[in-house]
Amino acid sequence: MKSVRDFELKDKKVIIRVDFNVPIKDNKILDDNRIIMSLKTINYAKEKGAKVILMSHLGRIKEESDKEKYSLRIVSERLSELLNKKVIFVASTRGKELEDNINNLKSGDVLLLENTRFEDLNGKLESGNDKALGEYWASLGDIFINDAFATSHRSHASNVGIASNLPSGIGFLVEDEIKNLSIALNSPKRPVALILGGAKVTDKIGIIKNFIDKCDYILIGGAMAYTFLNSLGFNIGKSLIDNDSIDFCKDMLKNHKEKIILPMDSIVSKEFGVDIKLKNNDEFDNDDMGLDIGDKTIEKFKNILDKCNTVIWNGPLGYSEVEKYSKGTKEILKYLSDKEKTVIIGGGDTASAAINFGYKSSFTHISTGGGASLEFLAGEKLPGIEAIDK
Ligand code: AMP
Repeated sequence: MKSVRDFELKDKKVIIRVDFNVPIKDNKILDDNRIIMSLKTINYAKEKGAKVILMSHLGRIKEESDKEKYSLRIVSERLSELLNKKVIFVASTRGKELEDNINNLKSGDVLLLENTRFEDLNGKLESGNDKALGEYWASLGDIFINDAFATSHRSHASNVGIASNLPSGIGFLVEDEIKNLSIALNSPKRPVALILGGAKVTDKIGIIKNFIDKCDYILIGGAMAYTFLNSLGFNIGKSLIDNDSIDFCKDMLKNHKEKIILPMDSIVSKEFGVDIKLKNNDEFDNDDMGLDIGDKTIEKFKNILDKCNTVIWNGPLGYSEVEKYSKGTKEILKYLSDKEKTVIIGGGDTASAAINFGYKSSFTHISTGGGASLEFLAGEKLPGIEAIDK
C-alpha cells in the first residue's frame, strides 16, 4: 500500500484526511491528543514542500445549530500553536472562498477547511459518501493521504470518495495502526489473552469469533460479563444486559468453556454512585447493579495474564469513567504496564482510560480508533483503507 513517503510532494496540493474529532466543552478543547497524533504526517508534508489541505469531521451535525458547536475554527487555532505556524482556516466546505484560498497556497502552507460533516445537513452527503461531493473535494488537490484511522471503517466522501478520484496513500498514523494491529491479528506470540469489556456483547461478537482459535484466554469484564453470567443462570439484578446476545454467550460457554474467563465477584450498587459493595456472583440482590470487577476477579485475571505473551484489550472492565468503579480497569492497566509483553489496547474508552490513568506510553500500541480497531481485529476490511489499495 502506498504511503505518504512514496509521493513527490513538492508544490503539490496534498489533501490529508486527519482525525480532529476532539472533545470540546465551553469552547475549549479538553484533550488535544488527536491533533498531536496528526502532526507527524502534516509536518512531513509541510517540510517536503507540499501545499497542505486538511480535512476532518467533528461531532455529528444534525441541525443548523450544531454548526457553531462543532466548528473546526478552535482546532485550527490549537494546530497553529502546535505547528508554530498560522494555519489558514476556511469556514466553508466548498465554494469560491475555499477554492481561492487553495489556489493562493504556497509550498509549506497549511489550510484547514470547515468540518466535513457540515455537508450532512442537506442529505448526509459526507456520511453517505455522495459521489459528486467526493469528486468535488478530490478536484481541490493533486494527492490524497488518509491519516484518519478512526474513521476508516466508514465509507465517507472525505475518505473513500476522495481516494477513489485521486492518487492516494496512507499517512504515518494509519501506517502505525496497521503495523501494530496486524501483529495482533496475524502473528501474536502465544499464549494470547483477549480482554474484553465495555457495554455490549453484540459489538464484540466479530472479534470473539475471529480470535477464538488464535487466543488461549478471553477474559470478560465490564457490563458484557453480566450477559454471560445471566446466560449461566446467575441473578445479575439490575446490571446492564444485552438480551440479543444470550444465545451467543451460551454457545461460547458450551463450546469454549476453558477459554472464556468470567468474573467471580463484582462491585455493585443499588443506586448509581452510592451504597458500594463487593459481592460474589451468587450474592446479587434483584436491585444490585454490577459496575466493576471485584478483587478476586482482578487477582484471577492477573494470574492468567502472567502466563501470556500477548494481550489484546478492548473495552473497560467496569464503569471506569467514575472513580468508584474504575479499580478493575486501573489495576489491570497497572499490572500490564511494566511487563515484557506485547500489549495492544483497542481505541475508544479503553484508550481514554489508559491515557487518563497515566499509561500513555506504557504499551506496545494504543489504537486511535474505537470502532475501526474493533472491525480491523474482527478481520474485516476497512473501506477507508481499501479505497487506498485500489
Ligand atoms: P463499549 O463502547 O462497548 O466498549 O462500552 C464502553 C462503556 O461501557 C463505557 O462507557 C463504560 O463505562 C461502560 N461500562 C463498562 N462496564 C460497565 C458496567 N458494568 N455497567 C455499565 N456500563 C459499563
